[in-house]
Amino acid sequence: MESNVRVRFAPSPTGPLHIGGVRTALYNYLFAKKYNGTFVLRIEDTDQTRYVANAEQYIIDALEWCNIPFDEGPNKNEKFGPYRQSERKNLYKEYADILIKTGWAYYAFDTSEQLDAHRKGHEAEGKTFIYNWHNREKGKLVNSLVLTADEVQAKINAGENYVIRFKTPQDELLRMEDEIRGNIKIDTNTLDDKILFKGDGMPTYHLANIVDDHLMQITHVIRGEEWLPSMPLHVLLYKAFGWEAPKFAHLPLILKPVGKGKLSKRDGDKLGFPVFPLEYTNEQTGDVSRGYKEDGYFNDAFINMLAFLGWNPGTEQEIFSLEELIAAFDLKRVSKSGAKFSPDKTKWFNQQYMQTKSDAELTELFLPILAEKGITKDKEYVLKVVTAIKERAVFVNDFWDLSNFFFETPTEYDAKASKKNWKEGTAELMQELIEVVSNIQDFSSENTEKEVKEWITAKEIGFGKVMQPLRLSLVGKLAGPHLFDIIAMIGKEETLLRLKNAIEKL
Ligand code: GLU
Repeated sequence: MESNVRVRFAPSPTGPLHIGGVRTALYNYLFAKKYNGTFVLRIEDTDQTRYVANAEQYIIDALEWCNIPFDEGPNKNEKFGPYRQSERKNLYKEYADILIKTGWAYYAFDTSEQLDAHRKGHEAEGKTFIYNWHNREKGKLVNSLVLTADEVQAKINAGENYVIRFKTPQDELLRMEDEIRGNIKIDTNTLDDKILFKGDGMPTYHLANIVDDHLMQITHVIRGEEWLPSMPLHVLLYKAFGWEAPKFAHLPLILKPVGKGKLSKRDGDKLGFPVFPLEYTNEQTGDVSRGYKEDGYFNDAFINMLAFLGWNPGTEQEIFSLEELIAAFDLKRVSKSGAKFSPDKTKWFNQQYMQTKSDAELTELFLPILAEKGITKDKEYVLKVVTAIKERAVFVNDFWDLSNFFFETPTEYDAKASKKNWKEGTAELMQELIEVVSNIQDFSSENTEKEVKEWITAKEIGFGKVMQPLRLSLVGKLAGPHLFDIIAMIGKEETLLRLKNAIEKL
């Protein structure tokens, strides 16, 4: 049954979604699903100067790849639509006007030059200029708190540029509650009178965000820590409108793997890991940023890793399916302090997931890679290869390097290994081995192993003297799974060919 829990992910389409944003979306999703609630996507595109055309589609594609789809949003169940703020533009002015009428907001006509001069003047005296009760009614500032109603109307009629500011109450100790951080108190005298509505006819983030959360019946606001400083204004806005405020939860920052501070794209570039879920092309510069998907991460491994960046279940268990995450997730177990991102742990998650994937599923992922290389082996063969190598792989993209010798005759031999293992007498020994192998009838892994080892024992020589050059001949280097499994897979003819090649070339 659907509950009344309604949460939203409200990104601004200013570029690709950073993994911090994906984590915010994920926690909202987990919370909504846990309580059979609704997960809303709202596009906060009121700041036209920062708008990037392909960003919204990127966000939608990223959520889809992560398998955390929204229930309501642009073009989907538009119950409270539209879900793009630019398309709700006409709605916000009405709400700004309500606050003007009730005395919670006022018009301000100060130009940016005038405000700059005030700032500089204050600085010169070692003070900071804040547009609030300190000076809003002292006559220095041009606003509807000091002008008469007629003067204000005359300015508006004359087309003078204005903004609408929130009139922050004076001398109030504001008590707020955050689901993660507990009680927070703030002295309203320290807050500035934020702009709610701009001269260009657009609301600012604050006004649009509160109006929309109210109209969309959002019950819990789960968002990044960077929005914590906005919480007092938001709480006051709810009060001003006489609306019940949602519950708030501010998630901890995701920190750099080394050093201090927030994880940035630059850290990823420097240390060689993506910070975006999907590859992203900047249409202006043509720059391409790496994505987890294209780097070969499984979406469920990526999500599992992200869930642990700031939350833990309180047990030792680390591998969680999406369903298990939904069941275990709890805002009370989200930490207050920042979560350090670890590229190694991210790989570890992928490797763990690799082992849980079925060989058949992995084969389907490997087949197109092989096809691209012009290799057309039947599925059954590829499946056996996958079974033999998956334990060593972190990514499906590693499969080829771990298994090329199953598909291709080696043309090169590792120089160091050859020097060490291909000695005087090795060629003769391999020639003899060719005879032994030619006579083997049952070419199963177990039987070839048995017969070759019997021959080595009878010759009274060390196993390494045969096994290392044999591996070198078949693989080209001293790597790969059990040698007799390789022999059984490639077959007698190919084994003999590779032995002959090695004798010729080494
Ligand atoms: N548009 C804001 C952002 O880009 C939303 C913040 C919020 O969730 O209130 O993150």
